[in-house]
Amino acid sequence: MATWLKRGATAEAKRDADKKVREIVEAALLDIEERGDAAVREMSVKFDGWDREDYQLSQAEIDNCVERLTAQERKDIEFAQAQVRNFAQIQKDSMKEVEVETMPGVVLGHKHIPVNAAGCYVPGGKYPLLASAHMSVITAKVAGVPRVITCAPPFEGKPADKIVAAQAMAGADAIYALGGIQAIGAMAIGTESIGGVDMLVGPGNAFVAEAKRQLFGRVGIDLFAGPTETMVIADETVDGEICATDLLGQAEHGPESPAILITNSEKLARDTMREVERLLDILPTADYARPAWENFGEVVVCDSYEEMRIVADDYANEHVQVMTEGPDYFLKNMTNYGALFLGPRTNVSYGDKVIGTNHTLPTKKSARYTGGLWVGKFLKTCTYQNVLTDEATTLVGEYCSRLCAMEGFAGHGEQANIRVRRYGGRNVPY
Ligand code: NAD
Repeated sequence: MATWLKRGATAEAKRDADKKVREIVEAALLDIEERGDAAVREMSVKFDGWDREDYQLSQAEIDNCVERLTAQERKDIEFAQAQVRNFAQIQKDSMKEVEVETMPGVVLGHKHIPVNAAGCYVPGGKYPLLASAHMSVITAKVAGVPRVITCAPPFEGKPADKIVAAQAMAGADAIYALGGIQAIGAMAIGTESIGGVDMLVGPGNAFVAEAKRQLFGRVGIDLFAGPTETMVIADETVDGEICATDLLGQAEHGPESPAILITNSEKLARDTMREVERLLDILPTADYARPAWENFGEVVVCDSYEEMRIVADDYANEHVQVMTEGPDYFLKNMTNYGALFLGPRTNVSYGDKVIGTNHTLPTKKSARYTGGLWVGKFLKTCTYQNVLTDEATTLVGEYCSRLCAMEGFAGHGEQANIRVRRYGGRNVPY
């Protein structure tokens, strides 16, 4: 039976924290709705100490950011962007359009139509997370979105150079130095300085994720991509140091980031917990990682791979690193995860920064119903139909007429009847 050697915050504490964030976001979005740019500006000053008339960066400001990159930095960003673009293109090419004659004279099909405008949020409160620019802007462009705008918060009081460079190199059509609820609200609601978009994508902290959630319906969103979570599934084929490294590598995102170990070895569990304490003493980002581990870290010891899989599926974690004798068992059988990292040679950081899969992934158990960001999220799969012959419309029309009568829909029925009369030359007795 699964045993928890360490548990994180209670469900009640998590609910209380969510409620507070929900209320702050609701009030802020209402304010943006009512006062537009004035509210956006006040929030930007309050939360980021950043104020200017126009949040859109000029071409000269953008060029300066790109020019300030060293040659190596530029090559590294180009390499990462090429991997993301390549995999996104392969995924897009796998999405076939459909057109098929399902009965003689009846043609049905679907097309994938990109949204007209997407707003890509790139987080940057604690770290200048330039990788998120590749993940959303490039993916939107590969999907064929005509207008892609992007916002990132100023970092340490000014636009974050490296984020801006990555946003530009990814092909953004407009770049704004604006963060948090004010960026999400402005892109969705549309203010004088930022025209509204049809769809919001990208990860962010609890405020950003909740703002997107509250705006869903008014605009599309990709998914609920809040504070990072990570899970390591491991057995004694690996040691405590590598497990602890992988747990802390994601816990450093921030104090709300859960890191979970699931293992079938109590020895590995205890070694990992010891290693976490050792590494926390030397990790430069321990100010974020330590509270994350102390408040949300969990360690579970299970009896078998099957039990490990069941417990892992129940967490529905964003990142799942599998380091066991047969990692393919988990690929074959797990159903709830944002992304899997199979075997000890890969890790979440490869996915976050460079390997080519998208790092914008579902959190807070939303992996129960969605995967991460990909080209498909920017595409609307819209159906169409065409009836080519008199015989086909008469056949379908008679069925339709009777089905409408069962529901009492006289108007719907008459849409069918008129076609049966005109193209079939007979009356429908219903
Ligand atoms: P961020 O850009 O998401 O948030 C910064 C903004 O938060 C600021 O601009 C500020 O306006 C706002 N803010 C801060 N405190 C506030 C308050 N009290 N009230 C209202 N607004 C407030 O940057 P961040 O904070 O560094 O967070 C980035 C997040 O993105 C991390 O939690 C990280 O784990 C997450 N992330 C998630 C994924 C994913 O796919 N799920 C991927 C990468 C990063």
